[in-house]
This record gives sequence, C-alpha cells and structure tokens, in this order.
Amino acid sequence: TAKDSGSNQWAFFKPQMTERASLRLRTEGALHNAVKNKEFILYFQPKFDLKTAKIIGCEALIRWKKNDRVIMPTSFIQVAEETGIIIPIGRWVIEETCKTIKYWQDTYHCSIPMAINVSTQQFEDDNLLQEIKSFSEKYHISPNLLEIEVTETSLMNDIDIAIYKLQQLKNAGFSIALDDFGTGYSSLAYLRHLPISTLKIDREFVIDLPKDNALASTILMLGRELKLHIVAEGIENDEQFQWLKQNGCQTGQGFYFNQPLSQEEFEAVYIKEGAIR
Ligand code: C2E
Ligand code: MG
Ligand code: MG
Ligand code: MG
Repeated sequence: TAKDSGSNQWAFFKPQMTERASLRLRTEGALHNAVKNKEFILYFQPKFDLKTAKIIGCEALIRWKKNDRVIMPTSFIQVAEETGIIIPIGRWVIEETCKTIKYWQDTYHCSIPMAINVSTQQFEDDNLLQEIKSFSEKYHISPNLLEIEVTETSLMNDIDIAIYKLQQLKNAGFSIALDDFGTGYSSLAYLRHLPISTLKIDREFVIDLPKDNALASTILMLGRELKLHIVAEGIENDEQFQWLKQNGCQTGQGFYFNQPLSQEEFEAVYIKEGAIR
C-alpha cells in the first residue's frame, strides 16, 4: 500500500485529493487484479422478435465479481477506459463470448447470436479486428453469430477511420450495431455511409412511450429509409412493447422480457426449454 512504500507516498491521502480521485486510484488497482485473477463474468440479456415474441439472440453484459459483491459495468467501465485496462478486459469478453457460443453449440446443439459491447478505446485499438477474428477462429464460431455494438461517440474522433474499421469488420462477416442511438452527435449525413446493419434505440427514447414518441418514431423511419434493423432497448412494460411492435420495430430487449441472466439462468430458461434452436 501507499504508506508502506515511503513517506512521500502519504501525498495520496492529503485532503486536497478528492474523494473521486482516490476512488479512481483504488478502482484502477483493483481492476488490474481483477484482470489477473479473472474476476469478471458475463450475463446475457435475451433479445426478442417483437412480432412473434420469440427469443432470437442475446447481448453479453459484463459483471465484476469482487469477493461477494457484483459490481455493475457503469461503476468501472469508464475507469477501465481511461486507464487502458479496458483492452485486456475487452479481450476477455471477446474470448468468453466465443467460448460460450461454442459451449452452447456443443452441449445443446443450438447457435445463438450474441452481441458484445466495444468501447471507444477498444474500437480505436488497431488489434480489435484481429482479436475478434482469431478468437472466433479458435472456437470455430461463424462470424455471423457475433454482433459488435459500438456507440456513436466511438466513431466521431475520426469518422473516416471509423468507417474503414467498420467495413473491415463487416467484410470479415461480423455484424455491427450502433448502440445508444440518438444520444450522441449523430449526423444523418454520415449515418448513410456507415457499414452497419442495426440501430439500437436508447432506453431514453423508450422510457416515455407511447406518449413521447417523437424520437422513437424518427429512428424507426430512419431505419426503414436506410434499411437498417432496429432494436429497442429498455422495454419495461406492455405499453412500450405494443407501441414498438405496432410501429415496426423488429427487435427488443428489456426488463419486460428479462433482466440480464447468468449463464445458468439463461440455459435453464431459454436453451433447455427449447425456446431457441
Ligand atoms: P448498453 O450496452 O446500452 O446495455 C444496456 C444496459 O441497460 C445494460 O446495463 C442492461 O442491463 C440495461 N437494461 C436492459 N434492459 C433494461 C430495462 O428494461 N430497464 C433498465 N433500467 N435497464 C435495462 P448494464 O449491464 O449495467 O451495462 C451498462 C453499460 O455498460 C452497457 O450499456 C455498455 O455500454 C457497458 N457494458 C456492459 N458490458 C460491457 C462489456 O462487456 N464491454 C464494454 N466495453 N462495455 C460494456
Ligand atoms: Mg449494448
Ligand atoms: Mg445500449
Ligand atoms: Mg443504453
């Protein structure tokens, strides 16, 4: 610890250091250990075809199991991003995702499409494509079972490089979804040029449906115009579900259907019951 290693290290504990900065330091150190000790686990949130209410795949969402606690990604992804630890964490997510798809294929004879979240640092890292490719090859996963979710903001630093990278992922057979759509600085001008297949309507635009539907309506219209698949996230009640279904949204996920499930729960509820094949 800081106080073992010399008196000048006490600087860390001076009152002018904000609570927040010291929390960051502790989180950073703990995250390094978490990578080393493999303290992460994936949860799986089912995605449904809204017309048939049938499950069509899932999104992998990371959790950090620290002692007896489960820490949510909103509490550590940002620090992981800012410190670069997201790179080894992201690598773990990609391998674990491929491993799980392979396990489900071998054990239950079903191929379940899975979406993974990639943050800005990961997307900008030049090894991303190679990592995704090599893990999908290592586990013999068909690339069309993997969907990469990137956010609008991840693409904005250099849109030309972003388009190039997305195109490479697409050429390799992976599909790409634009996550949290509507919350970033979207410009319709560039949206037409992105080699993506899916837009995910952010929960923010689902939460007040059907009353406040201006944004959701616009995104659905845009989806039809640009021939993009639309996924709504954060569906929590029947009114939201019905509105989205009636207004042509193909796919949805949310607590109305399921919370993210542990692997065991996902298998028990969906795979063993034969809901997905
Ligand atoms: P996201 O990709 O937009 O994921 C959706 C988040 O909304 C998830 O939170 C999910 O549990 C939550 N959610 C789903 N349905 C509902 C609902 O009906 N109501 C409400 N209130 N929430 C709902 P989670 O798992 O805490 O993840 C938060 C964010 O952390 C994700 O947002 C994603 O940006 C990031 N994240 C999660 N896993 C990973 C990962 O493996 N790698 C990276 N880089 N980021 C991740
Ligand atoms: Mg996502
Ligand atoms: Mg999202
Ligand atoms: Mg979101």
